[in-house]
Amino acid sequence: MKTIGLIGGMSWESTQFYYQQINRAVRAGLGGLHSAKIAMVSVDFAPIEEFQHAGNWPATAEILSAAAQSLEAAGADFFLICTNTMHKVADSVASSVSIPLLHIADASGRVLQEDGIERVGLLGTGFTMEQSFYKDHISDNFGIEVVVPDTEGRSRVHDIIYQQLCLGDIRDESRAIYLNVIDQLREQGCEAIILGCTEIGMLVKQTDTDVKLYDTTEIHAIEAVNLSLE
Ligand code: GLU
Repeated sequence: MKTIGLIGGMSWESTQFYYQQINRAVRAGLGGLHSAKIAMVSVDFAPIEEFQHAGNWPATAEILSAAAQSLEAAGADFFLICTNTMHKVADSVASSVSIPLLHIADASGRVLQEDGIERVGLLGTGFTMEQSFYKDHISDNFGIEVVVPDTEGRSRVHDIIYQQLCLGDIRDESRAIYLNVIDQLREQGCEAIILGCTEIGMLVKQTDTDVKLYDTTEIHAIEAVNLSLE
């Protein structure tokens, strides 16, 4: 079994699901008392969030590169950045170490492609929905068209992530807002929705909607286990 490196803490509310899902999948795969070999660096999210909103991405890349180097020194065979948004600096973080990065959009893109999805809606932070680093990664590498909500929808989805979900605050009215945005994306011909922020799965579950949901936290965690047990 290979050792999985995790850069967590963005937010820790979602990192706990990575830890749980990875361990559960290793137990399912190997049985008995088997559990995952994990090295984790969990960062303080507050300064990172400030740098994000100030547009100081190089400062965030420095923090995550130091974390990746610690994972490599701790014996991780490969590593994950446990957030979609911070894949904005994935190339720079990946180039700071010699162990490979399991990119969250590659993991998700592969599953979407296997399922034959051609047009998908994307929910995530404003950075993930509006900038090219994520949308283009999926469309360029997997030939899938990515559609995002309108300006108002994007802003509501973004605010709920930072003001509620990253603080573990789960509200019925926020779920209703998300489900409404999901319906609008369906009306625009989206066959499925990427929950492209690692906290959204805490708010919206597959049982809340008929539209097929792809939860990036779950997909990323399962891909990590497949790679670890390969
Ligand atoms: N966890 C979130 C994501 O997947 C948002 C927090 C962050 O900005 O990293 O994008």
